[in-house]
Amino acid sequence: MRKGIAVSPGVAVGTAYCIYEIFVNPDTKRLEDREVTAELAQYEYARDKTTDDLRALQKKVEAQVGHEQAAIFAVHETILRDAPFTKKVRDWVVHERMTAQAALHRLMAEYTQLFSRTKDEYLRDRLNDIRDVVVRISAHLSDVLKPETHALPGPLIVVADELLPSHVVALGDADVHGIVTQAGSQTSHAAIIARSRGIPAVSGVAGVLRQVKTGDTIIVDGRDGHVIVNPDSETKSAYHKLEREFVHLKDQLAENRDQPAVTADGVSLQLLANINGVADADASERMGAAGVGLFRTEYLYLTHPDVPDEEEQLDVYRRVVDACPGRDIVIRTLDIGGDKTMVYLGRNYRESNPFMGWRSIRLSFEHPEFFNTQIRAILRAAAYAKKQGGQIRILFPMITTLEEVRRLRSMVRKACKQLSDAGKSHVRPPVGMMLEVPAAALTVRDMLEACDFVSVGSNDLVQYLMAADRDNPKVSHLCQPLAPAVLRVLSEVIRACNEAKKPITVCGEMAGQPRSVVLLLGMGLRSFSMSSAFIPTIKDVAAHVSIAQAEQLAHRAMEFKTIAQVKRYLDTQLRRLAPNLAVLDIA
Ligand code: PEP
Ligand code: MG
Repeated sequence: MRKGIAVSPGVAVGTAYCIYEIFVNPDTKRLEDREVTAELAQYEYARDKTTDDLRALQKKVEAQVGHEQAAIFAVHETILRDAPFTKKVRDWVVHERMTAQAALHRLMAEYTQLFSRTKDEYLRDRLNDIRDVVVRISAHLSDVLKPETHALPGPLIVVADELLPSHVVALGDADVHGIVTQAGSQTSHAAIIARSRGIPAVSGVAGVLRQVKTGDTIIVDGRDGHVIVNPDSETKSAYHKLEREFVHLKDQLAENRDQPAVTADGVSLQLLANINGVADADASERMGAAGVGLFRTEYLYLTHPDVPDEEEQLDVYRRVVDACPGRDIVIRTLDIGGDKTMVYLGRNYRESNPFMGWRSIRLSFEHPEFFNTQIRAILRAAAYAKKQGGQIRILFPMITTLEEVRRLRSMVRKACKQLSDAGKSHVRPPVGMMLEVPAAALTVRDMLEACDFVSVGSNDLVQYLMAADRDNPKVSHLCQPLAPAVLRVLSEVIRACNEAKKPITVCGEMAGQPRSVVLLLGMGLRSFSMSSAFIPTIKDVAAHVSIAQAEQLAHRAMEFKTIAQVKRYLDTQLRRLAPNLAVLDIA
């Protein structure tokens, strides 16, 4: 049994499907003599495909972002054409009978060692460029060699170092029932994907790729973060039973999809969905979401082969509108940087503290043309939504100061003018800010002057308030939404928005956690945005609690001085109020 962090609830039993990144797990196979020529041909094929990618990227980025940003792909092509680079790979395949993947792995290890001795930052950054090129070649190689996921028996449990957007695309509609990752945490990509699909997941399981191989039976317990490899038959059947109970409860709860979200004393709540794309928008309708509270548009960029232009973005936004007809949809502009980065946006710029640095709206401000493309696409989609009887609102991430909001409003006005001049139909949408920086929380009453609505990004707000990286398992005991400091800030922010009559939603992960929902309800929050898989559960929780009970509970919770006390108190109260949810281990 291995222990990790529970990042998406539920239990699943299935067949392991391991995604070995070449940096994590080198291929140890030795080639037969007769396989060498084919291996070299596959390597050449992968190299040609990489050249095509890089040229296409350079052209598109040059047109849409700028000449300077596109130059990086010319550098990558130079690396790809570098004679010693190719010679080494070919030599190892021919003389040492290594697979091309293994040769690339060795090459990367050599370069890493070589570069680690230099103190020159510029040179160190070149290592990232080499890595990018190697990853591209490697991806094309695995395209050629990719094992067929459908050849494996039963539901799959994906095991990876980290689940990357490219993996999600590659897995397509494979029958994935669980996810286990070595890296990551509550708020990393794998966790967000798993929750949006209602799949149990455990992250931060150190070394699991060394202990599991494709085809093994594996159990994922997303309630307390356990992973069991090749269980004995008793354990397996016990977990099968739990899995059935979990699926049954989920189905049972999902039957409330058409019922309104109301508290036990009849107060209406707005339960919205966090989505990453069109498929999630479809799922949100099935789960009974009242609309979309957060469309994280970065996946549209991260999973795109190059850069999505205005028309492509408009097409995606329209399809989201079609999936949620007549609903309110909040589109958040690109939130990149920190842990997620794109090579044409600033990879050359190295930061010692990326989460405190050049991320999110700060990065968008520095690429005004590129940013304007997204704003225009959103404004045009807003006209489309209006025609369908719905509304699009625009949300800007990681706002720190009032000046930023003013500047953004002026950018929206300018984009409106451009579209009017070009005779393109558009609507000026309500403008909202994500409240996730403590400075913005402390000055929220001033910020409200310039905002039509507020969305609290509690994942970031907690990490910045507690000075604890949301993706670092070593400090996860501090990065807790139930910390007394966080509760005080949240309560103040909710009060300020309610007094100013500005709509406020919480869209971080805590909005889908029953114990936090009851607390937020008691603080006066009425709008929650979460992975849509959680909506039926939260609707059920709400139906078991009256506002008076929630207020009393929030009041008491805020008197405690430690995270553990707050958590223990809320869990006890929740078990008393909604005992039917025990199998989800809602605590
Ligand atoms: C948040 O920070 O809480 C949030 C919803 O945004 P993201 O998780 O995408 O940073
Ligand atoms: Mg955030």
